[in-house]
Amino acid sequence: MISSSIRHRDNVGSPSGEPVRLKPHLLFLLFVILLTPGCQQTPHEYKRTLLVFGTLVNITLRDVDEELAQKSFEQIRQDLELMHFLWHPWKRGPLGRTNALLATGGWFSVNVSVLPVIEKGRDLARITNNLFNPAIGKLIALWGYHQDEPPTGPPPSKEAIEQLLAQHPRMSDIEFDGLRIRSRNPAVQLDFGAMAKGLAIDRVIDYLRRQGIHNAIVNAGGDLKVTGSHGDRPWRIGIRHPRKQDGVLAALDVNDGESVFTSGDYERFYEYEGRRYHHIIDPRTGYPADQTTSVTVIHTNAATADAAATALFVAGPDGWQAIARKMQLRYVMLVDKNGRIIMTPAMAKRIALTEIDNKPVVIEP
Ligand code: FAD
Ligand code: MG
Repeated sequence: MISSSIRHRDNVGSPSGEPVRLKPHLLFLLFVILLTPGCQQTPHEYKRTLLVFGTLVNITLRDVDEELAQKSFEQIRQDLELMHFLWHPWKRGPLGRTNALLATGGWFSVNVSVLPVIEKGRDLARITNNLFNPAIGKLIALWGYHQDEPPTGPPPSKEAIEQLLAQHPRMSDIEFDGLRIRSRNPAVQLDFGAMAKGLAIDRVIDYLRRQGIHNAIVNAGGDLKVTGSHGDRPWRIGIRHPRKQDGVLAALDVNDGESVFTSGDYERFYEYEGRRYHHIIDPRTGYPADQTTSVTVIHTNAATADAAATALFVAGPDGWQAIARKMQLRYVMLVDKNGRIIMTPAMAKRIALTEIDNKPVVIEP
């Protein structure tokens, strides 16, 4: 049986006016937005939805006048569209050029908008023991995830996967000399899909604060960061249930400056002969990580939260603690393939699960 994760075919307009199809996780985002009380446009609350990075980005600003809100939305739209172009994993652009030159093995000057992303990716790869490994772009392409629509199968051959694995692409293969870089390993192909949304959201929140906007939430397909509060209470969000279509697993109050990122096997996947093949690849095996269905991380740095959620997803129920300790993560929730919920004590104190009969396992990292 072949089925695709695309079930909804609603059309929305992208900022560039191109028609796009809404994926289930985009519909979930709209649902989460509706969950947030006070989402009515009030004289002091403004909302804008943009389509970048293949996802809907919803921005809510509070306690701001209309002129500043509209000016900020326009600036953010331009900035996000620029980041989309600069860091796109498979379209022609600065990251594509970087990948082509890395494959030659020679030194070259890297685009200054790409260099900090590579440096951040290198640091996060190191601290996650390479479970977050943005150098595995070739594997992600082999699995068919370098396109808008999820593939339909069959999965790639064992030989093709093993051939890429044997080349061990790592961020530590890249050498740095000021603005110049080179790769000692021609198999390195960069894909920042597990971190770029976080980087972008950090920048949008920084920009808003510099504009004097102190109460805002930026939500990209359920991954988000807040500044300030929602009136006299914190921003409140829902975390998607990994197995219930449009269901909510938990509710959470998000404090000033926090970001909440979730990696799930339901975001992009296909089924082939009864097995699910999703987009989060275990760099040790070359196959989709199969012990986890979702991981949520709270951190003040959105790029760190983004990469950490992906790395802990790969680490799974037996390996997440070592990485969480190394990264000094306080707030982690993991749902394993059997639906068992594991979380840190700090997370347990502040999260409200919707299924009262599913008692979480609470463990120190
Ligand atoms: P995360 O868990 O945060 O990341 C998973 C993604 O990271 C995978 O999709 C893969 O790309 C990569 N990855 C998988 N395993 C690993 C690993 N072990 N270590 C490191 N990385 C891994 N998608 C579209 O459909 N259309 C677009 O036009 C589009 N444009 C994009 C533009 C940019 C600049 C970027 C960065 C991504 C774009 N994407 C696009 C991809 C889309 O954003 C991904 O679906 C998204 O990055 C996955 O994020 P996530 O939060 O669901 O999962
Ligand atoms: Mg991630």
